Amino acid sequence: MIEVVWFKRDLRVEDHAALASAQGPVLPLHVVEPEYWRGEDASPRQWRFTRDALLDLRAALAGIGLPLVVRVGDVVEVLADLHARHGIRALHSHEETGNLWTYARDRAVGRFCRAHGIAWTEHRQFAVFRRLDSRDRWAARAAAHHAAPLIPAPRGLMAVPEVAEGAIPDQPRAWNPEDGLLRPQPAGRAAALSLLDGFLAGRGADYRRGMSSPRTAPRACSRLSPHLAMGSVSMREVMQRLAAARQDLAAMDPRERPIPLGAADSLASRLHWHCHFIQKLESEPELERRAAHPAAEAARRPTAPDDPLLLAWAEGRTGLPFLDACMRSLIATGWLNFRMRAMVQAVASYHLALDWAASGARLARLFTDYEPGIHWPQVQMQSGATGINTPRIYNPVKQGLDQDPEAKFIARWVPEVAHLPSALRHMPWKLDAPPPGYPPPVVDVTAAMRAARDRLTTLRATPGFEAAARGVYRKHGSRARRFRQDDPASERAKAAARAAKAGRQLRLDV
Ligand SMILES: Cc1cc2nc3c(=O)[nH]c(=O)nc-3n(C[C@H](O)[C@H](O)[C@H](O)COP(=O)(O)OP(=O)(O)OC[C@H]3O[C@@H](n4cnc5c(N)ncnc54)[C@H](O)[C@@H]3O)c2cc1C
Repeated sequence: MIEVVWFKRDLRVEDHAALASAQGPVLPLHVVEPEYWRGEDASPRQWRFTRDALLDLRAALAGIGLPLVVRVGDVVEVLADLHARHGIRALHSHEETGNLWTYARDRAVGRFCRAHGIAWTEHRQFAVFRRLDSRDRWAARAAAHHAAPLIPAPRGLMAVPEVAEGAIPDQPRAWNPEDGLLRPQPAGRAAALSLLDGFLAGRGADYRRGMSSPRTAPRACSRLSPHLAMGSVSMREVMQRLAAARQDLAAMDPRERPIPLGAADSLASRLHWHCHFIQKLESEPELERRAAHPAAEAARRPTAPDDPLLLAWAEGRTGLPFLDACMRSLIATGWLNFRMRAMVQAVASYHLALDWAASGARLARLFTDYEPGIHWPQVQMQSGATGINTPRIYNPVKQGLDQDPEAKFIARWVPEVAHLPSALRHMPWKLDAPPPGYPPPVVDVTAAMRAARDRLTTLRATPGFEAAARGVYRKHGSRARRFRQDDPASERAKAAARAAKAGRQLRLDV
Protein backbone atom coordinates (compact mmCIF):
# COMPACT_ATOMS: atom_id res chain seq x y z
CA MET A 1 0.00 0.00 0.00
CA ILE A 2 1.17 3.53 -0.81
CA GLU A 3 0.41 7.07 0.25
CA VAL A 4 -0.25 9.71 -2.42
CA VAL A 5 0.59 13.39 -1.99
CA TRP A 6 -1.60 15.32 -4.41
CA PHE A 7 -0.01 18.63 -5.42
CA LYS A 8 -2.51 21.21 -6.60
CA ARG A 9 -1.85 24.91 -6.07
CA ASP A 10 0.89 24.25 -3.51
CA LEU A 11 3.88 23.54 -5.76
CA ARG A 12 6.70 23.46 -3.20
CA VAL A 13 8.39 21.07 -0.76
CA GLU A 14 9.14 23.60 2.02
CA ASP A 15 6.39 24.21 4.57
CA HIS A 16 4.22 21.63 2.86
CA ALA A 17 2.09 19.98 5.55
CA ALA A 18 0.67 17.34 3.18
CA LEU A 19 4.10 16.12 2.03
CA ALA A 20 5.49 16.18 5.55
CA SER A 21 2.71 13.99 6.91
CA ALA A 22 3.00 11.21 4.31
CA GLN A 23 4.59 7.92 5.38
CA GLY A 24 5.67 4.65 3.82
CA PRO A 25 6.14 4.48 0.07
CA VAL A 26 5.10 7.94 -1.08
CA LEU A 27 3.92 8.95 -4.52
CA PRO A 28 3.93 12.73 -5.17
CA LEU A 29 1.31 13.38 -7.85
CA HIS A 30 0.16 16.28 -9.99
CA VAL A 31 -2.74 15.79 -12.37
CA VAL A 32 -3.01 18.10 -15.36
CA GLU A 33 -6.77 18.34 -15.85
CA PRO A 34 -7.77 19.32 -19.42
CA GLU A 35 -11.33 19.96 -18.30
CA TYR A 36 -10.16 22.54 -15.75
CA TRP A 37 -8.12 24.25 -18.45
CA ARG A 38 -11.19 24.42 -20.67
CA GLY A 39 -12.87 26.66 -18.08
CA GLU A 40 -13.66 30.25 -19.01
CA ASP A 41 -11.33 31.56 -16.29
CA ALA A 42 -8.27 29.50 -17.35
CA SER A 43 -5.65 30.69 -19.84
CA PRO A 44 -2.33 29.89 -21.51
CA ARG A 45 -0.47 32.44 -19.36
CA GLN A 46 -1.64 30.72 -16.18
CA TRP A 47 -0.63 27.35 -17.60
CA ARG A 48 2.79 28.69 -18.57
CA PHE A 49 3.42 29.81 -14.99
CA THR A 50 2.04 26.54 -13.61
CA ARG A 51 4.22 24.46 -15.94
CA ASP A 52 7.36 26.33 -14.92
CA ALA A 53 6.40 25.94 -11.25
CA LEU A 54 5.90 22.20 -11.83
CA LEU A 55 9.38 21.92 -13.35
CA ASP A 56 10.73 23.69 -10.27
CA LEU A 57 8.79 21.34 -7.99
CA ARG A 58 10.10 18.31 -9.88
CA ALA A 59 13.68 19.49 -9.28
CA ALA A 60 12.97 20.20 -5.58
CA LEU A 61 11.41 16.76 -5.07
CA ALA A 62 14.37 15.13 -6.81
CA GLY A 63 16.54 16.87 -4.22
CA ILE A 64 14.79 14.90 -1.46
CA GLY A 65 14.81 11.65 -3.41
CA LEU A 66 11.25 11.66 -4.75
CA PRO A 67 9.88 11.83 -8.29
CA LEU A 68 7.02 14.11 -9.31
CA VAL A 69 4.55 11.81 -11.03
CA VAL A 70 2.53 13.73 -13.62
CA ARG A 71 -0.60 12.40 -15.26
CA VAL A 72 -3.01 14.07 -17.67
CA GLY A 73 -6.74 13.44 -17.28
CA ASP A 74 -9.50 13.18 -14.71
CA VAL A 75 -8.21 13.00 -11.11
CA VAL A 76 -10.66 10.30 -10.02
CA GLU A 77 -9.66 8.12 -12.98
CA VAL A 78 -5.96 8.68 -12.25
CA LEU A 79 -6.47 7.78 -8.58
CA ALA A 80 -8.52 4.71 -9.55
CA ASP A 81 -5.69 3.54 -11.80
CA LEU A 82 -3.04 4.08 -9.10
CA HIS A 83 -5.27 2.35 -6.55
CA ALA A 84 -5.69 -0.67 -8.83
CA ARG A 85 -1.93 -0.92 -9.37
CA HIS A 86 -0.53 -0.10 -5.93
CA GLY A 87 -3.35 0.15 -3.42
CA ILE A 88 -3.67 3.65 -1.94
CA ARG A 89 -3.83 3.73 1.85
CA ALA A 90 -3.90 7.48 2.28
CA LEU A 91 -4.22 10.63 0.17
CA HIS A 92 -2.68 13.89 1.41
CA SER A 93 -3.32 17.32 -0.05
CA HIS A 94 -3.85 20.92 0.95
CA GLU A 95 -7.32 22.40 1.23
CA GLU A 96 -8.09 24.30 -1.95
CA THR A 97 -10.45 27.24 -2.25
CA GLY A 98 -10.73 27.15 -6.01
CA ASN A 99 -13.46 27.84 -8.50
CA LEU A 100 -16.75 25.96 -8.68
CA TRP A 101 -15.19 23.42 -11.03
CA THR A 102 -12.43 22.43 -8.57
CA TYR A 103 -15.00 22.46 -5.76
CA ALA A 104 -17.10 19.86 -7.62
CA ARG A 105 -13.98 17.86 -8.52
CA ASP A 106 -12.90 17.75 -4.86
CA ARG A 107 -16.31 16.43 -3.90
CA ALA A 108 -15.93 13.69 -6.50
CA VAL A 109 -12.49 12.81 -5.09
CA GLY A 110 -14.04 12.69 -1.62
CA ARG A 111 -16.71 10.25 -2.82
CA PHE A 112 -14.06 8.08 -4.50
CA CYS A 113 -11.92 7.98 -1.35
CA ARG A 114 -14.88 7.10 0.87
CA ALA A 115 -16.01 4.36 -1.52
CA HIS A 116 -12.53 2.79 -1.53
CA GLY A 117 -11.59 3.22 2.11
CA ILE A 118 -8.81 5.72 1.34
CA ALA A 119 -8.10 8.18 4.15
CA TRP A 120 -7.94 11.65 2.55
CA THR A 121 -6.41 14.33 4.78
CA GLU A 122 -6.65 17.93 3.60
CA HIS A 123 -4.21 20.25 5.38
CA ARG A 124 -4.74 23.97 5.80
CA GLN A 125 -2.29 26.11 3.84
CA PHE A 126 -3.80 29.57 4.27
CA ALA A 127 -5.57 31.30 7.14
CA VAL A 128 -8.81 30.16 5.54
CA PHE A 129 -11.08 28.03 7.66
CA ARG A 130 -13.57 25.46 6.49
CA ARG A 131 -17.09 25.51 7.91
CA LEU A 132 -16.39 28.81 9.71
CA ASP A 133 -19.50 29.67 11.68
CA SER A 134 -18.58 33.28 12.46
CA ARG A 135 -16.09 35.90 11.32
CA ASP A 136 -15.79 37.24 14.85
CA ARG A 137 -12.57 35.51 15.89
CA TRP A 138 -11.13 35.11 12.42
CA ALA A 139 -8.22 37.57 12.81
CA ALA A 140 -6.89 35.84 15.94
CA ARG A 141 -7.13 32.42 14.29
CA ALA A 142 -5.37 33.78 11.21
CA ALA A 143 -2.53 35.20 13.31
CA ALA A 144 -2.09 31.84 15.06
CA HIS A 145 -2.01 30.03 11.72
CA HIS A 146 0.69 32.34 10.37
CA ALA A 147 2.77 32.15 13.56
CA ALA A 148 2.97 28.33 13.59
CA PRO A 149 6.47 26.93 12.96
CA LEU A 150 7.48 26.34 9.34
CA ILE A 151 7.62 22.69 8.30
CA PRO A 152 10.98 21.72 6.77
CA ALA A 153 11.07 19.64 3.57
CA PRO A 154 10.98 15.99 4.69
CA ARG A 155 14.06 13.83 4.25
CA GLY A 156 14.29 10.07 3.85
CA LEU A 157 10.82 9.41 2.46
CA MET A 158 10.67 6.20 0.45
CA ALA A 159 9.55 6.54 -3.18
CA VAL A 160 7.16 4.04 -4.79
CA PRO A 161 9.38 1.91 -7.06
CA GLU A 162 8.88 1.56 -10.82
CA VAL A 163 6.38 4.29 -11.45
CA ALA A 164 6.86 6.26 -14.68
CA GLU A 165 7.24 9.96 -13.86
CA GLY A 166 5.32 11.15 -16.91
CA ALA A 167 6.14 14.26 -18.90
CA ILE A 168 4.76 17.70 -18.05
CA PRO A 169 2.87 18.49 -21.25
CA ASP A 170 3.63 21.62 -23.25
CA GLN A 171 -0.07 22.47 -23.23
CA PRO A 172 -2.85 21.11 -20.99
CA ARG A 173 -5.32 20.97 -23.88
CA ALA A 174 -5.48 21.85 -27.54
CA TRP A 175 -5.65 25.64 -27.72
CA ASN A 176 -3.86 28.59 -29.21
CA PRO A 177 -1.08 29.20 -26.66
CA GLU A 178 -0.52 32.77 -27.87
CA ASP A 179 -2.58 35.03 -25.65
CA GLY A 180 -0.63 38.25 -26.07
CA LEU A 181 1.71 37.72 -23.12
CA LEU A 182 5.04 39.34 -23.96
CA ARG A 183 6.74 39.48 -20.56
CA PRO A 184 5.97 36.42 -18.40
CA GLN A 185 6.91 36.42 -14.72
CA PRO A 186 9.47 33.74 -13.79
CA ALA A 187 8.03 30.94 -11.63
CA GLY A 188 9.46 28.83 -8.81
CA ARG A 189 10.64 29.19 -5.23
CA ALA A 190 13.94 30.93 -5.98
CA ALA A 191 12.11 33.56 -8.06
CA ALA A 192 9.59 34.11 -5.26
CA LEU A 193 12.22 34.49 -2.56
CA SER A 194 14.30 36.78 -4.71
CA LEU A 195 11.25 39.04 -5.16
CA LEU A 196 10.70 39.20 -1.42
CA ASP A 197 14.39 39.76 -0.66
CA GLY A 198 14.63 42.46 -3.33
CA PHE A 199 11.56 44.19 -1.94
CA LEU A 200 13.00 44.19 1.59
CA ALA A 201 16.46 45.23 0.41
CA GLY A 202 15.20 48.47 -1.12
CA ARG A 203 12.81 47.89 -4.01
CA GLY A 204 9.90 48.33 -1.60
CA ALA A 205 11.14 51.74 -0.40
CA ASP A 206 8.50 53.53 -2.43
CA TYR A 207 5.80 50.88 -2.01
CA ARG A 208 3.11 53.04 -0.44
CA ARG A 209 3.44 55.88 -2.92
CA GLY A 210 4.36 53.80 -5.95
CA MET A 211 1.63 51.15 -5.72
CA SER A 212 -1.12 53.36 -7.12
CA SER A 213 0.26 54.28 -10.54
CA PRO A 214 0.61 51.66 -13.25
CA ARG A 215 3.92 53.33 -14.17
CA THR A 216 5.59 52.82 -10.79
CA ALA A 217 3.68 49.87 -9.34
CA PRO A 218 5.32 47.06 -11.36
CA ARG A 219 8.58 47.83 -9.55
CA ALA A 220 7.24 49.15 -6.25
CA CYS A 221 4.92 46.21 -5.47
CA SER A 222 6.14 42.86 -4.19
CA ARG A 223 4.92 40.95 -7.29
CA LEU A 224 4.45 37.87 -5.12
CA SER A 225 0.89 37.25 -6.29
CA PRO A 226 1.40 34.43 -8.85
CA HIS A 227 3.75 32.66 -6.46
CA LEU A 228 1.19 32.78 -3.68
CA ALA A 229 -1.50 31.63 -6.12
CA MET A 230 0.51 28.58 -7.19
CA GLY A 231 2.08 28.01 -3.78
CA SER A 232 5.73 28.05 -4.86
CA VAL A 233 6.32 29.62 -1.48
CA SER A 234 4.00 29.37 1.51
CA MET A 235 2.11 32.40 2.81
CA ARG A 236 3.33 31.50 6.29
CA GLU A 237 6.97 31.62 5.18
CA VAL A 238 6.47 35.00 3.49
CA MET A 239 4.74 36.36 6.60
CA GLN A 240 7.47 35.09 8.92
CA ARG A 241 10.33 36.38 6.74
CA LEU A 242 8.59 39.73 6.58
CA ALA A 243 8.07 39.81 10.36
CA ALA A 244 11.77 39.03 10.94
CA ALA A 245 12.80 41.72 8.46
CA ARG A 246 10.52 44.20 10.20
CA GLN A 247 12.23 43.49 13.53
CA ASP A 248 15.61 44.15 11.93
CA LEU A 249 14.31 47.37 10.37
CA ALA A 250 12.91 48.54 13.70
CA ALA A 251 16.30 48.03 15.33
CA MET A 252 18.06 50.18 12.69
CA ASP A 253 18.68 53.89 12.60
CA PRO A 254 15.73 55.16 10.50
CA ARG A 255 18.15 56.81 8.04
CA GLU A 256 19.84 53.45 7.42
CA ARG A 257 16.66 51.49 6.73
CA PRO A 258 16.51 50.12 3.16
CA ILE A 259 12.71 50.44 3.29
CA PRO A 260 10.58 52.37 5.77
CA LEU A 261 8.76 50.47 8.49
CA GLY A 262 5.52 51.67 6.91
CA ALA A 263 6.29 49.75 3.70
CA ALA A 264 6.80 46.51 5.62
CA ASP A 265 3.58 47.12 7.55
CA SER A 266 1.61 47.88 4.38
CA LEU A 267 2.80 44.67 2.77
CA ALA A 268 1.90 42.72 5.92
CA SER A 269 -1.63 44.13 5.89
CA ARG A 270 -2.10 43.24 2.22
CA LEU A 271 -0.91 39.71 2.86
CA HIS A 272 -3.51 39.59 5.63
CA TRP A 273 -6.19 40.67 3.12
CA HIS A 274 -5.20 37.77 0.86
CA CYS A 275 -6.64 35.26 3.31
CA HIS A 276 -9.48 37.55 4.40
CA PHE A 277 -10.75 37.60 0.82
CA ILE A 278 -10.24 33.90 0.15
CA GLN A 279 -12.28 33.18 3.28
CA LYS A 280 -15.26 34.83 1.57
CA LEU A 281 -15.24 32.38 -1.33
CA GLU A 282 -14.51 29.48 1.02
CA SER A 283 -17.61 30.39 3.03
CA GLU A 284 -19.74 30.99 -0.07
CA PRO A 285 -18.36 29.27 -3.22
CA GLU A 286 -21.33 30.53 -5.28
CA LEU A 287 -19.84 34.06 -5.16
CA GLU A 288 -18.19 33.11 -8.44
CA ARG A 289 -21.61 33.20 -10.11
CA ARG A 290 -24.05 34.85 -7.71
CA ALA A 291 -23.92 38.39 -6.31
CA ALA A 292 -23.38 38.57 -2.55
CA HIS A 293 -26.34 40.92 -2.13
CA PRO A 294 -29.71 39.53 -3.30
CA ALA A 295 -30.87 42.88 -4.76
CA ALA A 296 -27.67 43.12 -6.82
CA GLU A 297 -28.28 39.57 -8.02
CA ALA A 298 -31.85 40.38 -9.03
CA ALA A 299 -30.68 43.46 -10.97
CA ARG A 300 -28.16 41.56 -13.11
CA ARG A 301 -28.50 41.43 -16.90
CA PRO A 302 -26.36 38.78 -18.61
CA THR A 303 -23.63 39.85 -21.02
CA ALA A 304 -22.82 37.58 -23.96
CA PRO A 305 -19.15 36.57 -24.27
CA ASP A 306 -19.03 38.17 -27.73
CA ASP A 307 -20.74 41.42 -26.71
CA PRO A 308 -18.94 44.15 -28.73
CA LEU A 309 -18.58 46.44 -25.69
CA LEU A 310 -17.10 43.59 -23.63
CA LEU A 311 -14.61 42.83 -26.41
CA ALA A 312 -13.65 46.51 -26.85
CA TRP A 313 -13.04 46.76 -23.09
CA ALA A 314 -11.11 43.48 -22.84
CA GLU A 315 -8.93 44.20 -25.85
CA GLY A 316 -8.09 47.79 -24.94
CA ARG A 317 -9.93 49.61 -27.72
CA THR A 318 -12.63 51.60 -25.97
CA GLY A 319 -11.30 54.95 -27.14
CA LEU A 320 -10.59 55.85 -23.48
CA PRO A 321 -6.79 55.94 -23.63
CA PHE A 322 -5.87 55.42 -19.97
CA LEU A 323 -8.28 52.48 -19.64
CA ASP A 324 -7.01 51.01 -22.92
CA ALA A 325 -3.40 51.45 -21.78
CA CYS A 326 -4.15 49.52 -18.58
CA MET A 327 -5.81 46.67 -20.46
CA ARG A 328 -3.07 46.49 -23.08
CA SER A 329 -0.32 46.45 -20.46
CA LEU A 330 -2.22 43.71 -18.60
CA ILE A 331 -2.48 41.68 -21.81
CA ALA A 332 1.29 42.03 -22.38
CA THR A 333 2.49 41.43 -18.80
CA GLY A 334 -0.20 39.36 -17.06
CA TRP A 335 -0.23 41.79 -14.12
CA LEU A 336 -1.83 45.07 -13.11
CA ASN A 337 -1.69 46.98 -9.83
CA PHE A 338 -4.63 46.91 -7.43
CA ARG A 339 -5.98 50.39 -8.13
CA MET A 340 -6.05 49.83 -11.87
CA ARG A 341 -7.65 46.40 -11.46
CA ALA A 342 -10.33 48.12 -9.44
CA MET A 343 -10.72 50.82 -12.08
CA VAL A 344 -10.96 48.51 -15.10
CA GLN A 345 -13.52 46.35 -13.30
CA ALA A 346 -15.52 49.38 -12.19
CA VAL A 347 -15.61 50.82 -15.71
CA ALA A 348 -16.87 47.49 -17.09
CA SER A 349 -19.65 47.28 -14.50
CA TYR A 350 -20.61 50.94 -14.09
CA HIS A 351 -19.82 52.87 -17.27
CA LEU A 352 -20.37 50.02 -19.70
CA ALA A 353 -23.10 48.29 -17.66
CA LEU A 354 -21.62 44.84 -18.39
CA ASP A 355 -22.37 41.90 -16.14
CA TRP A 356 -19.51 41.44 -13.64
CA ALA A 357 -19.35 37.69 -14.24
CA ALA A 358 -18.54 38.21 -17.94
CA SER A 359 -15.90 40.92 -17.38
CA GLY A 360 -14.57 39.05 -14.32
CA ALA A 361 -13.93 35.92 -16.41
CA ARG A 362 -12.05 37.97 -19.01
CA LEU A 363 -9.89 39.54 -16.29
CA ALA A 364 -9.30 36.16 -14.65
CA ARG A 365 -7.84 34.84 -17.89
CA LEU A 366 -5.57 37.86 -18.21
CA PHE A 367 -4.18 37.55 -14.66
CA THR A 368 -1.22 35.18 -14.29
CA ASP A 369 -1.96 35.37 -10.57
CA TYR A 370 -5.64 34.38 -10.88
CA GLU A 371 -6.76 33.43 -7.39
CA PRO A 372 -10.51 32.73 -7.38
CA GLY A 373 -10.90 33.54 -3.68
CA ILE A 374 -9.50 37.05 -4.13
CA HIS A 375 -10.74 37.59 -7.63
CA TRP A 376 -14.49 37.02 -7.40
CA PRO A 377 -15.07 38.89 -4.13
CA GLN A 378 -12.99 41.79 -5.51
CA VAL A 379 -14.85 41.75 -8.83
CA GLN A 380 -18.13 41.94 -6.93
CA MET A 381 -16.85 44.63 -4.61
CA GLN A 382 -15.70 46.85 -7.48
CA SER A 383 -19.06 46.31 -9.20
CA GLY A 384 -21.27 47.35 -6.30
CA ALA A 385 -22.61 43.81 -5.88
CA THR A 386 -21.77 43.21 -2.22
CA GLY A 387 -23.99 45.81 -0.58
CA ILE A 388 -21.44 46.24 2.25
CA ASN A 389 -18.80 48.37 0.54
CA THR A 390 -19.23 52.02 -0.36
CA PRO A 391 -19.38 51.80 -4.16
CA ARG A 392 -16.64 53.68 -5.94
CA ILE A 393 -17.32 54.75 -9.51
CA TYR A 394 -13.84 55.42 -10.85
CA ASN A 395 -13.44 58.02 -13.55
CA PRO A 396 -10.90 56.59 -16.04
CA VAL A 397 -9.97 60.07 -17.29
CA LYS A 398 -9.36 61.50 -13.82
CA GLN A 399 -7.41 58.36 -12.84
CA GLY A 400 -5.24 58.88 -15.92
CA LEU A 401 -4.58 62.51 -15.03
CA ASP A 402 -3.78 61.54 -11.41
CA GLN A 403 -1.67 58.45 -12.03
CA ASP A 404 -0.10 59.30 -15.37
CA PRO A 405 -0.06 63.12 -15.49
CA GLU A 406 2.39 63.30 -18.38
CA ALA A 407 0.55 60.56 -20.27
CA LYS A 408 3.77 58.56 -20.68
CA PHE A 409 2.07 55.27 -19.77
CA ILE A 410 -0.64 56.07 -22.31
CA ALA A 411 1.96 56.87 -24.98
CA ARG A 412 3.70 53.56 -24.33
CA TRP A 413 0.64 51.36 -24.64
CA VAL A 414 -1.57 53.36 -26.97
CA PRO A 415 0.81 54.39 -29.76
CA GLU A 416 -2.13 55.70 -31.80
CA VAL A 417 -2.21 58.79 -29.53
CA ALA A 418 1.50 59.00 -28.66
CA HIS A 419 2.17 61.84 -31.08
CA LEU A 420 -0.39 64.13 -29.38
CA PRO A 421 0.41 66.67 -26.64
CA SER A 422 -0.01 64.98 -23.25
CA ALA A 423 -3.34 66.65 -22.36
CA LEU A 424 -4.85 65.39 -25.60
CA ARG A 425 -3.48 61.89 -25.11
CA HIS A 426 -5.86 61.70 -22.14
CA MET A 427 -8.79 63.04 -24.15
CA PRO A 428 -8.22 62.61 -27.90
CA TRP A 429 -11.95 63.18 -28.50
CA LYS A 430 -11.26 66.88 -27.99
CA LEU A 431 -9.52 66.94 -31.38
CA ASP A 432 -11.55 67.93 -34.41
CA ALA A 433 -10.69 64.64 -36.11
CA PRO A 434 -9.97 61.42 -34.15
CA PRO A 435 -6.36 60.14 -34.35
CA PRO A 436 -5.95 57.63 -37.19
CA GLY A 437 -6.51 54.02 -36.14
CA TYR A 438 -7.95 54.89 -32.71
CA PRO A 439 -11.70 54.62 -32.04
CA PRO A 440 -13.91 57.36 -30.62
CA PRO A 441 -14.91 56.69 -26.98
CA VAL A 442 -17.51 53.94 -26.59
CA VAL A 443 -19.28 56.01 -23.92
CA ASP A 444 -19.51 59.58 -22.71
CA VAL A 445 -17.75 59.16 -19.35
CA THR A 446 -19.71 61.79 -17.43
CA ALA A 447 -23.11 60.66 -18.70
CA ALA A 448 -22.21 57.00 -18.07
CA MET A 449 -21.16 57.76 -14.50
CA ARG A 450 -24.42 59.59 -13.83
CA ALA A 451 -26.43 56.71 -15.23
CA ALA A 452 -24.46 54.24 -13.08
CA ARG A 453 -25.03 56.37 -9.99
CA ASP A 454 -28.76 56.43 -10.71
CA ARG A 455 -28.85 52.64 -11.09
CA LEU A 456 -27.01 52.25 -7.80
CA THR A 457 -29.30 54.68 -6.01
CA THR A 458 -32.34 52.74 -7.24
CA LEU A 459 -30.72 49.47 -6.16
CA ARG A 460 -29.94 50.75 -2.68
CA ALA A 461 -33.49 52.02 -2.29
CA THR A 462 -34.87 48.49 -2.79
CA PRO A 463 -37.01 47.52 0.22
CA GLY A 464 -34.98 45.39 2.62
CA PHE A 465 -31.62 46.44 1.12
CA GLU A 466 -30.02 47.41 4.43
CA ALA A 467 -31.24 44.33 6.28
CA ALA A 468 -29.86 42.07 3.54
CA ALA A 469 -26.58 44.04 3.59
CA ARG A 470 -26.25 43.39 7.30
CA GLY A 471 -26.59 39.67 6.56
CA VAL A 472 -23.79 39.91 4.00
CA TYR A 473 -21.65 41.76 6.51
CA ARG A 474 -22.23 39.16 9.22
CA LYS A 475 -21.01 36.49 6.86
CA HIS A 476 -18.14 38.22 5.09
CA GLY A 477 -17.33 41.62 6.54
CA SER A 478 -14.04 42.51 8.14
CA ARG A 479 -14.46 42.97 11.89
CA ALA A 480 -11.49 45.33 11.81
CA ARG A 481 -13.44 48.14 10.17
CA ARG A 482 -17.01 47.58 11.25
CA PHE A 483 -19.17 48.04 8.18
CA ARG A 484 -16.80 50.49 6.52
CA GLN A 485 -14.94 50.05 3.26
CA ASP A 486 -14.12 46.33 3.34
CA ASP A 487 -10.96 47.06 1.44
CA PRO A 488 -7.24 47.01 2.13
CA ALA A 489 -6.44 50.46 0.76
CA SER A 490 -6.61 52.25 4.08
CA GLU A 491 -6.73 55.75 2.61
CA ARG A 492 -9.80 54.66 0.69
CA ALA A 493 -11.26 53.10 3.79
CA LYS A 494 -10.83 56.34 5.69
CA ALA A 495 -12.29 58.41 2.88
CA ALA A 496 -15.22 56.03 2.63
CA ALA A 497 -15.80 56.31 6.35
CA ARG A 498 -15.77 60.11 6.10
CA ALA A 499 -18.21 59.97 3.17
CA ALA A 500 -20.48 57.63 5.11
CA LYS A 501 -20.38 59.97 8.11
CA ALA A 502 -21.31 62.89 5.88
CA GLY A 503 -24.34 60.92 4.79
CA ARG A 504 -23.15 60.24 1.26
CA GLN A 505 -23.79 56.75 -0.06
CA LEU A 506 -21.59 56.63 -3.14
CA ARG A 507 -18.12 57.71 -4.15
CA LEU A 508 -18.02 59.44 -7.49
CA ASP A 509 -14.52 59.85 -8.88
CA VAL A 510 -15.02 63.33 -10.34
C1 LIG B 1 -11.00 43.21 -9.65
C2 LIG B 1 -9.80 42.68 -8.91
C3 LIG B 1 -9.38 41.37 -9.13
C4 LIG B 1 -8.28 40.86 -8.44
N1 LIG B 1 -7.90 39.57 -8.69
C5 LIG B 1 -6.83 39.06 -8.06
C6 LIG B 1 -6.39 37.72 -8.34
O1 LIG B 1 -6.99 37.00 -9.13
N2 LIG B 1 -5.29 37.26 -7.68
C7 LIG B 1 -4.60 38.04 -6.78
O2 LIG B 1 -3.60 37.57 -6.22
N3 LIG B 1 -5.01 39.29 -6.48
C8 LIG B 1 -6.08 39.83 -7.11
N4 LIG B 1 -6.46 41.12 -6.83
C9 LIG B 1 -5.84 41.85 -5.70
C10 LIG B 1 -4.58 42.70 -6.02
O3 LIG B 1 -4.81 43.58 -7.07
C11 LIG B 1 -3.36 41.82 -6.32
O4 LIG B 1 -3.19 40.88 -5.28
C12 LIG B 1 -2.06 42.61 -6.40
O5 LIG B 1 -2.17 43.62 -7.37
C13 LIG B 1 -0.93 41.64 -6.75
O6 LIG B 1 0.29 42.30 -6.89
P1 LIG B 1 1.44 42.15 -5.80
O7 LIG B 1 1.68 40.72 -5.46
O8 LIG B 1 2.62 42.93 -6.26
O9 LIG B 1 0.75 42.87 -4.57
P2 LIG B 1 1.32 43.53 -3.26
O10 LIG B 1 0.75 44.89 -3.16
O11 LIG B 1 2.79 43.42 -3.18
O12 LIG B 1 0.63 42.66 -2.11
C14 LIG B 1 1.18 41.40 -1.67
C15 LIG B 1 0.12 40.34 -1.67
O13 LIG B 1 -0.97 40.72 -0.85
C16 LIG B 1 -2.20 40.23 -1.40
N5 LIG B 1 -3.05 41.35 -1.77
C17 LIG B 1 -2.66 42.58 -2.19
N6 LIG B 1 -3.73 43.34 -2.42
C18 LIG B 1 -4.82 42.60 -2.14
C19 LIG B 1 -6.21 42.85 -2.18
N7 LIG B 1 -6.70 44.04 -2.55
N8 LIG B 1 -7.05 41.86 -1.84
C20 LIG B 1 -6.58 40.66 -1.45
N9 LIG B 1 -5.26 40.36 -1.39
C21 LIG B 1 -4.39 41.33 -1.73
C22 LIG B 1 -1.81 39.42 -2.64
O14 LIG B 1 -1.63 38.09 -2.27
C23 LIG B 1 -0.49 40.05 -3.02
O15 LIG B 1 0.34 39.19 -3.78
C24 LIG B 1 -7.58 41.67 -7.51
C25 LIG B 1 -8.00 42.98 -7.30
C26 LIG B 1 -9.10 43.48 -7.99
C27 LIG B 1 -9.53 44.91 -7.76
